[in-house]
Amino acid sequence: MPVDVVRKDIKNVHLAVYPPGGRVRIAAPRRLSDDAIRLAVVTRLGWIRRQQLVYAGQERQSEREMVSGESHFVQGRRYRLRVIESEEKPHARIRSTRTLDLVVSPGSSRKVRASVLDRWYRARLREEAQTLIEKWQPIVGVRVARWGIRKMRTRWGSCHESNGHILLNLELAKKDRDCLEYIVVHELVHLLEREHNDRFRALMDRFMPAWRSHRDKLNKAPLANEHWQY
Ligand SMILES: [Zn+2]
Repeated sequence: MPVDVVRKDIKNVHLAVYPPGGRVRIAAPRRLSDDAIRLAVVTRLGWIRRQQLVYAGQERQSEREMVSGESHFVQGRRYRLRVIESEEKPHARIRSTRTLDLVVSPGSSRKVRASVLDRWYRARLREEAQTLIEKWQPIVGVRVARWGIRKMRTRWGSCHESNGHILLNLELAKKDRDCLEYIVVHELVHLLEREHNDRFRALMDRFMPAWRSHRDKLNKAPLANEHWQY
């Protein structure tokens, strides 16, 4: 089980399991040895597994049948799916404030329907993210060499500081624009500071003072968290 370990000037050990995917992160005081950290994780393995199962359950729930009447989210809003079988070219469109139309070939499988919807999400996200990246690059004072969209299990976004490449999770198409904007700014700030350290947080505070509330909205599922003292 991979664990992100962050050493900080803190007294307590903080262990957290994050959605999506149940990534495990431990923040530990600098003086704590690797063995002590390993032991801390091992003794809490049961708790970690339980949290990861909760997130896995939420993911299974979000595994959709792709049938009419199902709820699907677009930019933080809930829509009722209306599947229309037609000879038209397969596509999706927002029909009204409540209805999302999915036009598919007659008899198409769940998988095909899901891929039509994913393609639509991806095109929307590409457009929104492009706008946001253009808006934020001059503010943060960086340039992205290349960016893309990918289905990722454990991260909302990622940044390779060395080559200036940014990846965004396709799931962001379903989240509020605030949440997407937060991730875009977060990844751009990584081009200035690689670590999630005080400098990173200070830069985030400067560019986007409300970033914490956007982050919390994005990770709405209760953030599993435990801390204790050594
Ligand atoms: Zn980050």
